Amino acid sequence: MDEQQAAAMIAKAQHRPIIDVQNVKKIYRVGEVKIRALDGISLTIDKGEFACIIGRSGSGKSTLLNMMAGLEAINSGQIIISGKHIERMTEAELIEFRQQQIGFVFQSFNLLPHYTAQENVALPLMFRGIGRAERSRRAREALRLVGLSTHRHHTPMQMSGGQQQRVGIARALVGNPAIVFADEPTGNLDSKTSNEIMELLLEIAQQRRTTFVMVTHDPNMAAYADKTINVLDGKATGISYKNAETTEV
Ligand code: ADP
Ligand code: MG
Repeated sequence: MDEQQAAAMIAKAQHRPIIDVQNVKKIYRVGEVKIRALDGISLTIDKGEFACIIGRSGSGKSTLLNMMAGLEAINSGQIIISGKHIERMTEAELIEFRQQQIGFVFQSFNLLPHYTAQENVALPLMFRGIGRAERSRRAREALRLVGLSTHRHHTPMQMSGGQQQRVGIARALVGNPAIVFADEPTGNLDSKTSNEIMELLLEIAQQRRTTFVMVTHDPNMAAYADKTINVLDGKATGISYKNAETTEV
C-alpha cells in the first residue's frame, strides 16, 4: 500500500456519518396482511447535512423517520446514530437519546391548543427537568431564532399556519438537538409559506450546524436539500446531490 492509499483508508475510517441505516426492515401486520413498510433500506447522512427523503405516499417515508428517531422498534437491520446502535437500546435509553439528540417537526404542528407559543416551545425542557426561569429564557431565544418574538403569548388559534410551524420548529430546536427530523413540515402550508419555512430551516441548519432530515413528496421542497434520497416500496432507489446527477443505489 502506498502513502496515498493509506491516507484514503484513514479518511474513510474517520468518515463517520451521524446517521447510518443498514438493511432495515419493518413489517406491519394488519389482520392477515403483512406490509413491508421498510424492505431492507440502507442510507447514511453526514453531520450538518440537510437531507431530504422523497417518495410518493405509502413508500415508507414516515416509517423510516420514526425508526431513525427511535420511536418504534425495527424487525431487523441496524440504525446507528452518533455512533450508537439505537436498535439495541432499552426503552429508558431511547427516551434519553430522544431528549438529548433529537428534535421533531410535524406536518400538523402538534401544538397544545391552550398553551402559548412560549409554553409550547418550553415543554420539552420540562421533561428534562430544567427549571422554570431557564425554560422561559431558552424558549424566548428559540422563538427569536424563528422570528416570532412578538407572538410569544399567542395561542395556536391566534396564529397562521406558517407561524404555528415556526413555533413547531422552535420547539424542535429548544433542546439544542444534534438532529432534527421533519415529516412533511410544509404539507399543511401554501406554497409561499412553504418556501419561507424551507428558507428558515436552511438558515438555521447552516447557522447551528444541525443535521436536518426532512421527508416530503414535493420535489419543490426537496430542491432545498443538499442531498435527496428517493424511496419506493420501503427501499432507497437513488441519491442525488444538489447540482449533481442521480446515482443508483
Ligand atoms: P409514507 O410516509 O411514505 O406515506 P408510511 O411510512 O406512512 O408511508 O407507510 C408505509 C406503509 O406502511 C404503508 O403501506 C402504510 O399503510 C403502512 N403503515 C404505516 N404505519 C403503519 C401502522 N402503524 N400499521 C400498519 N401499517 C402501517
Ligand atoms: Mg408519511
